[in-house]
Amino acid sequence: MTTHEQLRAEAAALQEWLTELRRDLHAHPELAFQELRTAGIVAQRLAELGYEVQTGVGKTGVVGILEGARAAGAAPAGALSGNLPQVLLLRFDMDALPVRELNDVPYCSRHDGVMHACGHDAHTAIGLAVAELLARHRAGWAGTVKVIFQPAEETIQGALAMIRDGVLKSPAPTCVLSMHVNSRKPLGTVHVTDGPMMAAADGFSVTVRGRGTHGANPHEGADPIVAAAQMVTALQSVVSRNISPLDTAVVTVGYIHGGTAQNIIPDVVEFGGTLRSYDEATTLLLRKRVRAIVEGIAQAMSVAVDIAFPETYAPPLMNDPAMSEIVRGVARELVGAQNVYGDYRMMGSEDAAYFLKAVPGAYAFIGAGNVEKGIMEPHHSPRFQIDEAVLPIAAALVTASAMRLLNGASS
Ligand SMILES: [Zn+2]
Ligand SMILES: [Zn+2]
Repeated sequence: MTTHEQLRAEAAALQEWLTELRRDLHAHPELAFQELRTAGIVAQRLAELGYEVQTGVGKTGVVGILEGARAAGAAPAGALSGNLPQVLLLRFDMDALPVRELNDVPYCSRHDGVMHACGHDAHTAIGLAVAELLARHRAGWAGTVKVIFQPAEETIQGALAMIRDGVLKSPAPTCVLSMHVNSRKPLGTVHVTDGPMMAAADGFSVTVRGRGTHGANPHEGADPIVAAAQMVTALQSVVSRNISPLDTAVVTVGYIHGGTAQNIIPDVVEFGGTLRSYDEATTLLLRKRVRAIVEGIAQAMSVAVDIAFPETYAPPLMNDPAMSEIVRGVARELVGAQNVYGDYRMMGSEDAAYFLKAVPGAYAFIGAGNVEKGIMEPHHSPRFQIDEAVLPIAAALVTASAMRLLNGASS
């Protein structure tokens, strides 16, 4: 059986290849649903490794399927044969952001205004290393691996697009693993939290329609600016007065537009924002209260109002506790118990949540920051960087976790 030390050594031997690939992807970033070059590299490599490859899944997504070749009855000692065979979905994302890179490195973005400022270049490279290690050790695991390279994470559209194109069918996954590098966490630390780890991301947009008039004669119109101001202020009470103090929620108004001159009351003001929470009941309550406040104030202030919510929103990212403990257990062996955490939560969102909602799974943050090297810029910053030493660490962690899952959780 492949030991974790062996996998770690094999992943470490891929460092140079991983770095080169990640830098090539970094220099050629592609926005959501435009990841054609990246998808081409992925599809070619998966085919070389013996995977059955599907392209164009969710517009630009790629899927690779590989069957394990472990002989029947060759389950490692302690394996839970009742858990077998698994179909494991391994999910990596590929898209970049509309950010102009300010790093001065030889592999700086060559696409003006587009940058891998979230580390999805690293994820793509890590995913191909995992695919390689799993193919190399095919005789050591049973079941099926379905490795997917997802487009358009940053717009929260890619996972749904792949699901609509059938990625959760034939074969249907029984468990899922995904990960994200994290420049704000020390290199090599692993963070996998049971239950909600990232927030549901919902949004709203409001159009307040008054009646424009001269600024000197407000009584002759209906002022949408004063009405909108009351609405924005009253929305601040939703979290403090309507959400249980034991629940988590955010209401942020992120834009407000209206008016053209000091002495004109405009016809229309528009504003909108984001709603974050850790469970869908809270999301629905946020929607209900936002609507009630906006419509109630509109009535009181004699303005009309249109309020819109998106058709779908990213659900909270929920880690299955048993799956999370498997990944933490593997991580303790690979990076040491002192580097493994189970308490990290954030209000950011991630569309891997759609997969984790459909199938029990675990999502890990893997520290890629290094204060001594000055690598600590936040994600989405034009100066975002990672310590590339994270690449083999992440590849070993995901591969070892995958093999443990495929071979029965207690192996
Ligand atoms: Zn991002
Ligand atoms: Zn990201």
